[in-house]
Amino acid sequence: SSVLEIKDLHVSVETEQGQKQILKGVDLTIKQGETHAIMGPNGSGKSTLAYAIAGHPRYEVTGGSILLDGEEVLDMEVDERAQAGLFLAMQYPVEIPGVTNANFLRTAKTAIDGEAPAIRGWMKDVKEAMQNLRMDESFASRNVNEGFSGGEKKRNEILQLELLKPRFAVLDETDSGLDVDALKVVSEGVNRAKEQTGLGVLLITHYTRILRYIKPDFVHVFVDGRVAEEGGPELAERLEEEGYDRFLTGASA
Ligand code: ADP
Ligand code: MG
Ligand code: MG
Repeated sequence: SSVLEIKDLHVSVETEQGQKQILKGVDLTIKQGETHAIMGPNGSGKSTLAYAIAGHPRYEVTGGSILLDGEEVLDMEVDERAQAGLFLAMQYPVEIPGVTNANFLRTAKTAIDGEAPAIRGWMKDVKEAMQNLRMDESFASRNVNEGFSGGEKKRNEILQLELLKPRFAVLDETDSGLDVDALKVVSEGVNRAKEQTGLGVLLITHYTRILRYIKPDFVHVFVDGRVAEEGGPELAERLEEEGYDRFLTGASA
């Protein structure tokens, strides 16, 4: 079974005021089949962690490492990371004008597997995954995320997850902007992937609501670019009651 290890990760971004250190030593180990929730206030660096794992060029890793089964992910190009089994559902999914969802999915699947999927089985898989996510068939022929509502974009990220079958998925605020029905549908999709492929999940969220549907094995509280506290699911319940104030006071002292 696979393991994703993040060790003493330091990440900075180039801003107008110069280089800004955002991640200040993140340690996190996720085994295949485990779900880790990362919770934290806005601006604590959660999305930066997600982008660093995915290899976004704006986020410069200034220290530490990310190992997938002992292999250095930081040495891999973005497409190599996807081929190695890493997947990112973005907080703000990007629109891709001129590329239909169906073509995008097929191209991504082909790139990841190293060969094109057999057409009939693939069409069936796409149709079934869309039905599971309560997506109208018309979404296959529309351009990727173009004109999609916030909730439709989030569903579309999970559609990719279900079809591309990664080993580890980073879900960045997949719950934000979803009503309860959509949240259930999306959570069911993630849970199916967990059952079917033993997916490891890094579930980034500001709120505890999604954790009622996707049960975390571990909870990490992220404050000011570091893991400030870790525990089991009970830690999420504590955050639900107390909020992040306790941590923020500590961080500014
Ligand atoms: P979170 O996802 O926890 O809300 P982010 O990782 O988005 O936090 O942001 C952490 C901090 O880094 C914030 O202060 C944010 O303004 C800053 N930051 C993130 N990305 C950029 C960027 N591309 N340019 C400038 N600042 C950034
Ligand atoms: Mg944010
Ligand atoms: Mg974010």
